[in-house]
Amino acid sequence: MNNLIWFRNDLRIADNASLRKACEGEGVIAAFFFDPRQFDIGDFGFKKTEKYRAKFLIESVTELRQNLLNINIPLLVFHDMPEAVIPTLVTDYRIKNIFLQKEWTRDEAHVLDAVRNKIPDQVHIEESYDQFLFHPEDIPYSDSINIPQVFTQFRKKCEKYAEIRSIPETSSTITQNNIRENDTQIPKLQDLGLSDFELDDRSAFPFQGGEEQALNRLRDYFWESENISSYKKTRNGLIGKDYSSKLSAWLANGSISPRTIYWEIKRFENEVNKNESTYWLIFELIWRDYFKYVSLKHESKIFKIGGILDKIYAWKNSESAKEQWISGNTRERFVNANMKEISQTGFMSNRGRQNVASFWAKELEQDWRIGAAYFESLLIDYDVHSNWGNWMYNSGVGNDPRDRKFNIRNQAERYDTQGKFQDLWLEERLF
Ligand SMILES: Cc1cc2nc3c(=O)[nH]c(=O)nc-3n(C[C@H](O)[C@H](O)[C@H](O)COP(=O)(O)OP(=O)(O)OC[C@H]3O[C@@H](n4cnc5c(N)ncnc54)[C@H](O)[C@@H]3O)c2cc1C
Repeated sequence: MNNLIWFRNDLRIADNASLRKACEGEGVIAAFFFDPRQFDIGDFGFKKTEKYRAKFLIESVTELRQNLLNINIPLLVFHDMPEAVIPTLVTDYRIKNIFLQKEWTRDEAHVLDAVRNKIPDQVHIEESYDQFLFHPEDIPYSDSINIPQVFTQFRKKCEKYAEIRSIPETSSTITQNNIRENDTQIPKLQDLGLSDFELDDRSAFPFQGGEEQALNRLRDYFWESENISSYKKTRNGLIGKDYSSKLSAWLANGSISPRTIYWEIKRFENEVNKNESTYWLIFELIWRDYFKYVSLKHESKIFKIGGILDKIYAWKNSESAKEQWISGNTRERFVNANMKEISQTGFMSNRGRQNVASFWAKELEQDWRIGAAYFESLLIDYDVHSNWGNWMYNSGVGNDPRDRKFNIRNQAERYDTQGKFQDLWLEERLF
C-alpha cells in the first residue's frame, strides 16, 4: 500500500508537512493538477488565471518535479480535474493515504469533497495547515470565531503568546521499487488556452517560479544586497526590484514557507543587523497570516458584496468605468500607471494596489468584487486570502477600523514626487 501527496499551494520540498508524513510510508507518489476550471472564465467575466501566474505555476511545478525526483518521488502532472483522476490513481497505485495542505476556501473545499465522494472510505485523507507563520494550533485563540476584527490586536497577542515553529529536516531520498515510470506531461501555456509573452523591460521584477528561485531571491535581498536592512524606508516604492522583498509570488503558491523566511530574518538579525526594517518584514508576514485567519473565521463572506461586515452600499456596475480602469484611462494618472503595470506584468506594488482599489471602490463606488476578480485573474502572486481580504479592507467592507479613502493626488505627490513611475508607464514609447 502506498501514499499519495496531492500538491496544491505547497509547491516545495523544504518545510512541507505532507511530504514529511508521506515519506513515513512504504511507497510514495505525488500529483499536481492543472485544473481546467482554474483557467475558465470566472463570475465577473475574467479568466480565473491569466498568463503571468500560469507561466509562473508551470515553472514552479517543473522545478518541484525535479526536486522530488532527486529524492526518488515521481510527480505525476495532469491537465484535468482531481476528482476525475485521483480515483484511478488510488486503484492503480494501491493508495492507502492521501496527504495534502489544508485549504478551506470555497473552490478548494468543493474539489476535495468531490474527490472524497469518489474514493473508498478506507482511503485516509490527511490535511495539514502548512501555509501559516503562526500555526493554528499555536495561536492564543481557541477558535477562529474569536479572531479579532482588528489586525493590531491579533498581532500583539500572537507576538506575545505564540511561538513560530522551527523547520524540520527536509525529507531525504526514499527507497522505493514498486512505483512505475512517470510519463505524464506538464502542460504549456498554449495547452491552458494562453499565449506566450516576453517580459516587459519595465517590470519591477523578473519573476521565475520554483523553490530554488525563491531561495535565490532571499539570498539576494537579505545577504547580498542587504536591502532588507532598509525595507521599512523603501517598502512604499514603485519602481524596480529593491524596494520590497518580491517574495509574494513564491509564498502564494507555497514554493517557500513563511517560516523559512522568518528564520532567515532571525539569522540575518543575529549575524548582520537587527533593526525596525528587519522586524517590519515579519510584521507584513503577520498581515498575510491575519487574512488567512479572517477567511477561516468568515468563510465565504469574503466573496460576498457586503463583505465580513454585511455592509450595504449602493454599489455601481458601469461597463465604461470598468473599461477605463482596466485600460488605464481614468482621470487619475497615478491610477492609470499602476493599471498599466498590472496588465503588462502581472505585478503591482502594495502602494499601487491600495490606490487603485480605493479609487475603484470608494471614488467610483463600483462593485469592489469586480476589482478583486480582475486582480485574481492578473496577479502573479494571487493569494485568495490576501487578495479578497485586502480588497474588502480597502472597500470599507472588511477589517479597516478607520474606513479610509485615499486622496489619489496626494498619494501620487507623496510616493511619486517627480512622477517617474507615472512617466515610466504612461509616456509614449518610441520603440
Ligand atoms: C487590493 C490588494 C490586493 C492584494 N492582493 C494580494 C494577493 O493576491 N497576494 C499577495 O500576496 N498579496 C496581496 N496584496 C498584499 C501586498 O500588496 C503584496 O503582498 C505585496 O505588494 C507583494 O510584494 P512583496 O512581496 O514585495 O511585499 P513585501 O512588502 O516585501 O512584503 C513581504 C510579504 O508580506 C506579505 N504582505 C505584505 N503586505 C501584505 C498585505 N497588505 N496583505 C497580506 N500580506 C502582505 C506578502 O506575503 C509579502 O510577500 C494585496 C494588497 C492589496 C492592497
